Amino acid sequence: MEKNIFLAADIGGTTVKLAVIKDNGEIVKKWEINTDRENGGERIPEDIHHALEASLEELHIDKKQVAGIGAGAPGFVDPNSGFIHEAVNIGWKDYDFGAILSELTGFPVWVDNDANLAALGEKWLGAGEGAQELIAVTLGTGVGGGIIANGEILNGVNGTAGEIGHITVVPEGGAPCNCGKTGCLETLASATGIVRLAKESIETTPASILRNIPSDQLTAKDVFEAAQQGDEAAETVINKVTDLLGMTIANLAIAINPEKIVIGGGVSQAGSQLLDPLKSAYKKYALRRTFEATSFDLAKLGNDAGVIGAAFLVKANQ
Ligand SMILES: [Zn+2]
Repeated sequence: MEKNIFLAADIGGTTVKLAVIKDNGEIVKKWEINTDRENGGERIPEDIHHALEASLEELHIDKKQVAGIGAGAPGFVDPNSGFIHEAVNIGWKDYDFGAILSELTGFPVWVDNDANLAALGEKWLGAGEGAQELIAVTLGTGVGGGIIANGEILNGVNGTAGEIGHITVVPEGGAPCNCGKTGCLETLASATGIVRLAKESIETTPASILRNIPSDQLTAKDVFEAAQQGDEAAETVINKVTDLLGMTIANLAIAINPEKIVIGGGVSQAGSQLLDPLKSAYKKYALRRTFEATSFDLAKLGNDAGVIGAAFLVKANQ
Protein backbone atom coordinates (compact mmCIF):
# COMPACT_ATOMS: atom_id res chain seq x y z
CA MET A 1 0.00 0.00 0.00
CA GLU A 2 1.28 3.45 -0.91
CA LYS A 3 2.42 5.46 2.10
CA ASN A 4 0.80 8.79 1.25
CA ILE A 5 -0.36 10.03 4.65
CA PHE A 6 1.78 12.12 7.02
CA LEU A 7 0.89 12.74 10.66
CA ALA A 8 2.01 16.02 12.22
CA ALA A 9 2.31 17.40 15.75
CA ASP A 10 3.34 20.96 16.56
CA ILE A 11 3.87 21.01 20.31
CA GLY A 12 3.52 24.32 22.12
CA GLY A 13 3.37 25.38 25.75
CA THR A 14 -0.45 25.46 25.90
CA THR A 15 -1.68 23.32 22.99
CA VAL A 16 -0.46 20.62 20.65
CA LYS A 17 -1.58 21.24 17.06
CA LEU A 18 -2.19 17.97 15.27
CA ALA A 19 -2.89 17.23 11.62
CA VAL A 20 -3.38 14.44 9.14
CA ILE A 21 -1.84 15.56 5.85
CA LYS A 22 -1.70 14.03 2.36
CA ASP A 23 1.59 13.78 0.48
CA ASN A 24 0.57 16.72 -1.72
CA GLY A 25 0.26 18.91 1.39
CA GLU A 26 -3.52 18.86 1.60
CA ILE A 27 -4.69 18.93 5.21
CA VAL A 28 -7.28 16.15 5.72
CA LYS A 29 -7.91 17.06 9.34
CA LYS A 30 -6.40 19.44 11.88
CA TRP A 31 -7.22 19.89 15.52
CA GLU A 32 -5.68 20.77 18.89
CA ILE A 33 -5.28 19.06 22.23
CA ASN A 34 -4.11 20.61 25.49
CA THR A 35 -0.45 20.33 26.41
CA ASP A 36 -0.30 18.47 29.72
CA ARG A 37 2.85 19.91 31.29
CA GLU A 38 2.44 18.11 34.60
CA ASN A 39 5.30 15.89 35.78
CA GLY A 40 7.72 17.28 33.25
CA GLY A 41 5.32 16.76 30.36
CA GLU A 42 5.59 12.98 30.58
CA ARG A 43 2.04 12.29 29.33
CA ILE A 44 2.35 14.32 26.12
CA PRO A 45 3.54 11.45 23.88
CA GLU A 46 0.67 9.25 25.05
CA ASP A 47 -1.87 12.06 24.52
CA ILE A 48 -0.56 12.56 20.97
CA HIS A 49 -0.64 8.81 20.32
CA HIS A 50 -4.29 8.45 21.43
CA ALA A 51 -5.42 11.53 19.54
CA LEU A 52 -3.77 10.40 16.28
CA GLU A 53 -4.99 6.82 16.63
CA ALA A 54 -8.60 7.95 17.17
CA SER A 55 -8.45 10.23 14.14
CA LEU A 56 -7.03 7.56 11.83
CA GLU A 57 -9.92 5.34 12.84
CA GLU A 58 -12.48 8.12 12.36
CA LEU A 59 -11.06 8.95 8.91
CA HIS A 60 -10.89 5.26 7.94
CA ILE A 61 -7.20 5.53 7.17
CA ASP A 62 -5.27 2.26 7.20
CA LYS A 63 -2.09 2.49 9.33
CA LYS A 64 -0.20 0.99 6.39
CA GLN A 65 -0.85 4.25 4.50
CA VAL A 66 1.01 6.30 7.13
CA ALA A 67 4.60 7.22 6.23
CA GLY A 68 5.40 8.52 9.69
CA ILE A 69 5.01 11.34 12.19
CA GLY A 70 6.71 14.72 11.99
CA ALA A 71 6.85 16.66 15.24
CA GLY A 72 8.06 20.06 16.33
CA ALA A 73 8.85 21.40 19.78
CA PRO A 74 10.19 24.75 20.94
CA GLY A 75 13.72 24.23 22.18
CA PHE A 76 16.97 22.50 21.41
CA VAL A 77 16.36 19.34 19.42
CA ASP A 78 18.64 16.69 17.94
CA PRO A 79 16.86 16.06 14.64
CA ASN A 80 18.77 12.86 13.93
CA SER A 81 17.56 11.07 17.05
CA GLY A 82 14.48 13.09 18.04
CA PHE A 83 16.13 13.70 21.40
CA ILE A 84 15.08 16.94 23.12
CA HIS A 85 17.94 18.56 25.01
CA GLU A 86 15.67 21.18 26.50
CA ALA A 87 12.18 22.55 25.83
CA VAL A 88 11.60 24.99 28.67
CA ASN A 89 7.94 25.87 27.92
CA ILE A 90 6.96 22.21 27.92
CA GLY A 91 9.05 20.98 30.81
CA TRP A 92 11.19 18.51 28.89
CA LYS A 93 14.89 18.19 29.66
CA ASP A 94 17.07 15.43 28.20
CA TYR A 95 13.94 13.75 26.94
CA ASP A 96 14.02 10.98 24.34
CA PHE A 97 10.76 12.17 22.77
CA GLY A 98 11.20 10.78 19.25
CA ALA A 99 11.96 7.26 20.45
CA ILE A 100 9.12 7.32 23.00
CA LEU A 101 6.51 8.45 20.45
CA SER A 102 7.77 5.95 17.88
CA GLU A 103 7.58 3.12 20.42
CA LEU A 104 4.00 4.06 21.35
CA THR A 105 2.66 4.52 17.82
CA GLY A 106 4.73 2.04 15.84
CA PHE A 107 5.46 4.78 13.26
CA PRO A 108 8.83 6.32 12.45
CA VAL A 109 9.11 9.79 14.02
CA TRP A 110 11.14 12.81 12.92
CA VAL A 111 11.51 15.80 15.22
CA ASP A 112 12.82 19.33 14.81
CA ASN A 113 12.61 22.73 16.43
CA ASP A 114 9.20 24.40 15.85
CA ALA A 115 10.67 27.50 14.18
CA ASN A 116 12.68 25.29 11.80
CA LEU A 117 9.49 23.45 10.89
CA ALA A 118 7.70 26.74 10.21
CA ALA A 119 10.55 27.60 7.81
CA LEU A 120 10.23 24.21 6.09
CA GLY A 121 6.45 24.61 5.85
CA GLU A 122 6.79 28.01 4.16
CA LYS A 123 9.43 26.59 1.81
CA TRP A 124 7.20 23.66 0.81
CA LEU A 125 3.82 25.34 0.36
CA GLY A 126 4.02 28.95 1.57
CA ALA A 127 5.78 32.22 0.87
CA GLY A 128 9.16 30.55 0.44
CA GLU A 129 7.94 28.04 -2.13
CA GLY A 130 10.84 26.34 -3.83
CA ALA A 131 13.57 28.56 -2.35
CA GLN A 132 16.86 26.76 -1.80
CA GLU A 133 18.26 29.59 0.34
CA LEU A 134 15.77 31.06 2.78
CA ILE A 135 15.67 32.88 6.10
CA ALA A 136 12.40 32.65 8.04
CA VAL A 137 11.79 34.87 11.06
CA THR A 138 8.81 34.41 13.37
CA LEU A 139 7.98 37.51 15.41
CA GLY A 140 5.65 36.45 18.21
CA THR A 141 5.96 36.42 21.99
CA GLY A 142 9.57 35.56 21.22
CA VAL A 143 11.61 35.65 18.02
CA GLY A 144 12.05 32.31 16.25
CA GLY A 145 14.14 31.58 13.22
CA GLY A 146 14.85 28.95 10.62
CA ILE A 147 17.56 28.98 7.99
CA ILE A 148 17.47 26.85 4.85
CA ALA A 149 20.72 26.54 2.91
CA ASN A 150 21.19 24.35 -0.16
CA GLY A 151 17.56 23.29 0.30
CA GLU A 152 18.10 21.93 3.80
CA ILE A 153 17.31 23.29 7.22
CA LEU A 154 20.42 24.15 9.23
CA ASN A 155 20.55 22.48 12.63
CA GLY A 156 24.21 22.83 13.55
CA VAL A 157 26.33 20.57 15.70
CA ASN A 158 24.00 20.55 18.70
CA GLY A 159 20.71 21.99 17.54
CA THR A 160 21.18 25.75 17.98
CA ALA A 161 21.67 26.87 14.36
CA GLY A 162 19.15 29.46 13.19
CA GLU A 163 18.29 30.67 16.69
CA ILE A 164 17.96 34.15 15.24
CA GLY A 165 16.16 35.53 18.30
CA HIS A 166 19.29 35.05 20.38
CA ILE A 167 21.70 36.99 18.20
CA THR A 168 23.16 39.74 20.40
CA VAL A 169 22.18 43.18 19.12
CA VAL A 170 22.95 45.19 22.28
CA PRO A 171 26.49 44.30 23.39
CA GLU A 172 26.42 45.91 26.86
CA GLY A 173 23.55 46.60 29.25
CA GLY A 174 20.79 45.07 27.12
CA ALA A 175 17.57 43.73 28.59
CA PRO A 176 17.61 40.18 30.01
CA CYS A 177 16.41 37.42 27.66
CA ASN A 178 14.67 34.13 28.50
CA CYS A 179 17.78 32.26 27.31
CA GLY A 180 19.86 33.69 30.16
CA LYS A 181 21.81 36.20 28.05
CA THR A 182 21.13 39.92 27.70
CA GLY A 183 20.64 42.13 24.65
CA CYS A 184 19.25 39.39 22.34
CA LEU A 185 17.23 40.39 19.26
CA GLU A 186 14.22 38.80 20.98
CA THR A 187 14.33 41.41 23.76
CA LEU A 188 13.57 44.10 21.12
CA ALA A 189 11.86 42.63 18.05
CA SER A 190 9.32 40.32 19.74
CA ALA A 191 5.82 41.51 20.63
CA THR A 192 7.01 41.63 24.24
CA GLY A 193 10.12 43.59 23.26
CA ILE A 194 8.13 46.15 21.26
CA VAL A 195 5.85 46.77 24.26
CA ARG A 196 8.86 47.12 26.57
CA LEU A 197 10.50 49.65 24.23
CA ALA A 198 7.22 51.57 23.90
CA LYS A 199 6.93 51.89 27.67
CA GLU A 200 10.46 53.31 27.76
CA SER A 201 9.75 55.63 24.84
CA ILE A 202 6.60 57.20 26.31
CA GLU A 203 8.50 58.04 29.51
CA THR A 204 10.32 60.76 27.58
CA THR A 205 7.42 61.68 25.26
CA PRO A 206 4.58 63.08 27.40
CA ALA A 207 2.40 63.82 24.33
CA SER A 208 2.29 60.18 23.18
CA ILE A 209 -1.23 58.79 22.65
CA LEU A 210 0.07 55.46 23.99
CA ARG A 211 -0.13 57.05 27.44
CA ASN A 212 -3.92 56.75 27.19
CA ILE A 213 -3.64 52.95 27.28
CA PRO A 214 -3.15 51.36 30.71
CA SER A 215 0.45 50.14 30.87
CA ASP A 216 -0.52 46.50 31.55
CA GLN A 217 -2.83 46.44 28.50
CA LEU A 218 -0.44 47.93 25.96
CA THR A 219 0.20 45.60 22.97
CA ALA A 220 2.54 45.62 19.97
CA LYS A 221 -0.55 46.20 17.79
CA ASP A 222 -1.28 49.42 19.72
CA VAL A 223 2.26 50.58 19.02
CA PHE A 224 1.90 49.98 15.26
CA GLU A 225 -1.50 51.71 15.23
CA ALA A 226 -0.13 54.74 17.09
CA ALA A 227 2.82 54.94 14.69
CA GLN A 228 0.38 54.95 11.78
CA GLN A 229 -1.28 57.99 13.33
CA GLY A 230 2.08 59.73 13.47
CA ASP A 231 2.76 59.22 17.18
CA GLU A 232 6.40 60.10 17.67
CA ALA A 233 7.12 57.71 20.55
CA ALA A 234 5.60 54.79 18.64
CA GLU A 235 7.43 55.72 15.42
CA THR A 236 10.73 55.78 17.32
CA VAL A 237 10.10 52.23 18.52
CA ILE A 238 9.09 50.86 15.10
CA ASN A 239 12.11 52.54 13.48
CA LYS A 240 14.48 51.09 16.05
CA VAL A 241 13.02 47.58 15.83
CA THR A 242 12.94 47.41 12.02
CA ASP A 243 16.44 48.90 11.78
CA LEU A 244 17.95 46.32 14.16
CA LEU A 245 15.99 43.45 12.62
CA GLY A 246 16.96 44.51 9.10
CA MET A 247 20.59 44.77 10.16
CA THR A 248 20.52 41.32 11.76
CA ILE A 249 18.96 39.74 8.65
CA ALA A 250 21.49 41.55 6.42
CA ASN A 251 24.32 40.14 8.53
CA LEU A 252 22.85 36.65 8.26
CA ALA A 253 22.44 37.15 4.51
CA ILE A 254 26.21 37.40 4.20
CA ALA A 255 26.38 33.81 5.39
CA ILE A 256 23.79 32.22 3.10
CA ASN A 257 22.96 34.76 0.33
CA PRO A 258 19.18 34.13 0.57
CA GLU A 259 16.69 34.18 -2.26
CA LYS A 260 13.75 34.69 0.10
CA ILE A 261 13.18 36.19 3.51
CA VAL A 262 9.87 35.25 5.09
CA ILE A 263 8.49 37.14 8.08
CA GLY A 264 5.73 35.49 10.14
CA GLY A 265 4.23 35.46 13.63
CA GLY A 266 1.68 37.75 15.26
CA VAL A 267 3.77 40.93 14.83
CA SER A 268 3.84 40.35 11.04
CA GLN A 269 0.13 41.19 10.94
CA ALA A 270 1.35 44.80 10.80
CA GLY A 271 2.00 43.98 7.12
CA SER A 272 3.67 46.65 5.00
CA GLN A 273 4.04 48.89 8.03
CA LEU A 274 6.62 46.35 9.21
CA LEU A 275 7.86 45.03 5.89
CA ASP A 276 8.62 48.37 4.16
CA PRO A 277 11.01 49.83 6.79
CA LEU A 278 12.48 46.36 7.25
CA LYS A 279 13.32 46.15 3.56
CA SER A 280 14.89 49.63 3.69
CA ALA A 281 17.05 48.64 6.64
CA TYR A 282 18.06 45.42 4.88
CA LYS A 283 19.03 47.43 1.81
CA LYS A 284 21.07 49.79 3.98
CA TYR A 285 23.09 47.02 5.65
CA ALA A 286 23.33 44.29 2.99
CA LEU A 287 25.80 44.09 0.14
CA ARG A 288 24.11 45.53 -2.94
CA ARG A 289 24.41 42.27 -4.84
CA THR A 290 22.99 40.35 -1.86
CA PHE A 291 20.09 42.81 -1.63
CA GLU A 292 19.28 42.50 -5.33
CA ALA A 293 18.88 38.73 -5.06
CA THR A 294 16.46 38.83 -2.14
CA SER A 295 12.69 39.13 -1.92
CA PHE A 296 10.83 39.85 1.31
CA ASP A 297 7.43 38.31 1.96
CA LEU A 298 4.98 37.82 4.74
CA ALA A 299 4.49 34.19 5.79
CA LYS A 300 1.43 32.63 4.18
CA LEU A 301 0.62 29.55 6.21
CA GLY A 302 -0.14 31.25 9.54
CA ASN A 303 -0.78 28.77 12.34
CA ASP A 304 -0.52 25.83 9.92
CA ALA A 305 3.16 26.44 9.11
CA GLY A 306 4.33 24.13 11.92
CA VAL A 307 2.22 21.10 10.97
CA ILE A 308 2.87 21.58 7.24
CA GLY A 309 6.60 21.72 8.00
CA ALA A 310 6.30 18.64 10.20
CA ALA A 311 4.64 16.77 7.32
CA PHE A 312 7.43 17.94 5.01
CA LEU A 313 9.96 16.52 7.45
CA VAL A 314 8.37 13.10 6.96
CA LYS A 315 8.24 13.59 3.19
CA ALA A 316 11.90 14.59 3.06
CA ASN A 317 12.98 11.54 5.08
CA GLN A 318 10.57 9.02 3.59
ZN1 LIG B 1 18.31 35.18 24.17
